[in-house]
Amino acid sequence: MKHILTLFAALFPLLAAGLHAADAKRPNIVIIYADDLGYGDLGCYGSPVIRTPHLDKMAAEGLRFTDFYSGAEVCTPSRAALLTGRYALRSGMAGARRVLFPNSKGGLPPAEVTLAEALKGAGYATAHIGKWHLGIHEGSRPLDQGFEETFGLPYSNDMDARADLPKGATGSPTPPEDGWNVALQHNGKVIEQPAVQTTLTRRYTEQAVKFIRAKKGGPFFIYFAHTFPHVPMFASPAFKGKSRAGIYGDSVEELDWSVGEVLAALRAEQLAENTLVVFSSDNGPWLIMGNQGGSAGLLKDGKGSTWEGGMRVPGIAWMPGKIAPGVTTQMASVLDLYPTALALAGAAAPKDTLLDGTDLRPLLFERKPLPERPFFYYRGEQIFACRLGEWKAHFQSQTGYGGPKAEPHDPPLLFHLGLDPSEKRNVAAAHADVLARIQAAVEAHRATVKAVPQQLN
Ligand code: MG
Repeated sequence: MKHILTLFAALFPLLAAGLHAADAKRPNIVIIYADDLGYGDLGCYGSPVIRTPHLDKMAAEGLRFTDFYSGAEVCTPSRAALLTGRYALRSGMAGARRVLFPNSKGGLPPAEVTLAEALKGAGYATAHIGKWHLGIHEGSRPLDQGFEETFGLPYSNDMDARADLPKGATGSPTPPEDGWNVALQHNGKVIEQPAVQTTLTRRYTEQAVKFIRAKKGGPFFIYFAHTFPHVPMFASPAFKGKSRAGIYGDSVEELDWSVGEVLAALRAEQLAENTLVVFSSDNGPWLIMGNQGGSAGLLKDGKGSTWEGGMRVPGIAWMPGKIAPGVTTQMASVLDLYPTALALAGAAAPKDTLLDGTDLRPLLFERKPLPERPFFYYRGEQIFACRLGEWKAHFQSQTGYGGPKAEPHDPPLLFHLGLDPSEKRNVAAAHADVLARIQAAVEAHRATVKAVPQQLN
């Protein structure tokens, strides 16, 4: 017995060191997610009015996607798609009410294996920072869904409005600071109510940097979901009034500063080359908010719609020394981040779970083309459009907010996104073969969808 103990004592440091060495090789994963940021709102995506030097540098050092998609056209289903790697209707997180509200009974079901749970199971430290919006009830909250730490808002900053809030205050360039009663929470406890919104970006950033420093031994996963640029729009005094694009631009410029701080912290801790950082947005710009609504650039429509402006968003992947600088026109989406992160972590995919994304490693690290696959544009539980290669067919269309009811298209509208990225010229009549291929892809996808309890309605 003594010999065995002696042997164990001798081996244990070696074993521990071995485990540590293996851990050190597994990359950290940081997802930075803007809220309602449009395709045309960053310098590196062509904005002439919003200065984003840190994101521009991140894009110049990393891989910038021209054709990157959010998982849905609005907030809740988009976030569910990101964290489950599945279109939101598979988890019941897509529906007619569009997103969760403070009075909603549902939320992300506990049985869903989130990216945080999968990575935590593989030994990752996990943190959620920023907006959640996937449920406020037991089983759906960040600490219930695989995050060991959480700091942020339970839902959008425009929810929980004061009863006497004047109409139009949400989209105002000068919203009242005490107009919304949404609480800032830390590890499940309310630490401030109403949340002081002008300080959120700064405080989220401090939390992210603190977590990076505390967990630098790695590996770690941070899901950093900014509150802005979602209305009501706020920025700290250092950024307010500084951009050409009003308070919207100010809040994006502060968000850009935040990205710079996170990347600088990774560099300072010698972690940059071993951390995959992905930046994106949960949906397109909220155009009905006017000057506070951002821009989808050359893309049609915005948040809430399945035109390109609603779901094609900035997408930047950064891992200096591992991801070569460049631009890719390959189609990818946030659905791909789940399988990519699991592959990098050496984590097993959840059993009996159909994932909708593709492992992006061949593209990220070897610049190999991805296999052709369809992408489905859901509005609620319905497929409004489908992209295959450069082609996109619309079966129904509707503006994001405030417009007429959905217009069905039979035959579907067909656009070539290379020749016509703004979706102006319907060429369906000349390409029946393409439509048939897209229809077949839709049918094949539908056959994989199982009915689950609806969480939003
Ligand atoms: Mg949003």
